[in-house]
Amino acid sequence: AEWTALDEAAEAADLPGGGEPPQPTLAVVGRPNVGKSTLVNRILGRREAVVQDVPGVTRDRVAYDALWNGRRFTVLDTGGWEPDAQGLQAAVAAQAELAMSTADAILLVVDATVGATTTDEAVAKVLRRSKRPVLLCANKVDDERLMADVASLWSLGLGEPMPVSALHGRGSGDLLDAVLNALPETPKEVFGGTGGPRRVALVGKPNVGKSSLLNRLTGEERSVVDSVAGTTVDPVDSLVELDGETWRFVDTAGLRKRVHTASGAEYYASLRTKAAIEAAEVAIVLVDASEPLSEQDLRVVSMVVDAGRALVLAYNKWDLVDEDRRYQLAKEIDRELVRVRWAERINVSARTGRAVAKLAPALRTALTSWDQRVPTGQLNAWLNDLVAATPPPVRGGKQPKILFATQAQTRPPTFVLFTTGFLEAGYRRFLERKLRETFGFTGSPVRISVRVRE
Ligand code: GDP
Ligand code: GDP
Repeated sequence: AEWTALDEAAEAADLPGGGEPPQPTLAVVGRPNVGKSTLVNRILGRREAVVQDVPGVTRDRVAYDALWNGRRFTVLDTGGWEPDAQGLQAAVAAQAELAMSTADAILLVVDATVGATTTDEAVAKVLRRSKRPVLLCANKVDDERLMADVASLWSLGLGEPMPVSALHGRGSGDLLDAVLNALPETPKEVFGGTGGPRRVALVGKPNVGKSSLLNRLTGEERSVVDSVAGTTVDPVDSLVELDGETWRFVDTAGLRKRVHTASGAEYYASLRTKAAIEAAEVAIVLVDASEPLSEQDLRVVSMVVDAGRALVLAYNKWDLVDEDRRYQLAKEIDRELVRVRWAERINVSARTGRAVAKLAPALRTALTSWDQRVPTGQLNAWLNDLVAATPPPVRGGKQPKILFATQAQTRPPTFVLFTTGFLEAGYRRFLERKLRETFGFTGSPVRISVRVRE
């Protein structure tokens, strides 16, 4: 018997697909015009394998799914913005900092026909502090004659420059081999193994009150260890003591110092949000309850769900919410947030401190769901009863049978159903609803994928 993955059908039906294990990330950095985009396209083989869209930027695609020698990894193209010449050095250095805080390995691209510029040197200086592997790519080496220029790039102090012609493909195979060598099998930082504080991302569009809430949380409980990383390279996280437990709030540096670079500020804001979510196990999505829910709020929520992270929704500025607004809110939630009905909602006020004590229990619940595993025996006993009572609808004269189910993964819980036929979207939704009714999963996305035996 052969099994065909129907995850694409699931996606088309706007349902969670199969759970891919997290894959390591390579960030590509360098000055404008050195050929980063060309190289990224070369790495991707120009397959259109876009994983994520970051909203609100000039070029809104930044993270791509790459495959080389059977191994998957994510390529982060940090070049999608046009810095003004003046702020170039600072902007590229910021880009490098960001890469170090989010990626598992970094590829610095330099134009070999130009040689090392002051900006390249500044970036290299930042990257030399990286705890993650850094690879140096000498691009635009279209022929042998440039090899002497390549050798001069040793001066950047990042080891051996690898000659590549992104345009023609020369050397790109060797480069990719080196990339795979440098990348860990799985992203090491992400879930931090066992032990250690659990990782929380505090995210939301600008002005919803993220910094205010963080200040409230840290101010209230005193025992704060700030800037844990200290050692320059990691994102500056904050350890926050809440409800007798220490939590690691990731990338709070971005909240503290509001870096408003002249260009690309918005781009970095969304990239940072994305990165913080990826680095976290659970996200608190903060929205401004005093204002209508916006497209931007929903995008942040989607980022969390798509990344498969646990979720707590916090409605801030509750002190400003009156009777009328409350009524509107209830309608908005019904209409816009059905997709995350399973997430706990907490109405807080960073200003007055209202209900902030409820955040820690909600985080705990969400993480417990995220970690939850339903034993296969129990799952199938439950499923047999359910299917006997409500079988899948007949399609094309045939009654699809669900043969077997297993929870293939946790974090988030991911179920695989083995069937003899296609299961309609409505029926999949029914299964998810029932699964949640029985097993909970409050605060965590749940993924269901279907394998059909042909
Ligand atoms: P980015 O700004 O770093 O993303 O650079 P781009 O990928 O947009 O490339 C800038 C310019 O350099 C484009 O005109 C590319 O065609 C050119 N380019 C990129 N790679 C090579 C290469 O290997 N050889 C040559 N000769 N030109 C290249
Ligand atoms: P951030 O951009 O998400 O970090 O938002 P800030 O924390 O900077 O807050 C944006 C604005 O909202 C500031 O003027 C805050 O004083 C205000 N603010 C934050 N939380 C609350 C709240 O709970 N109630 C009210 N009324 N204002 C708030």
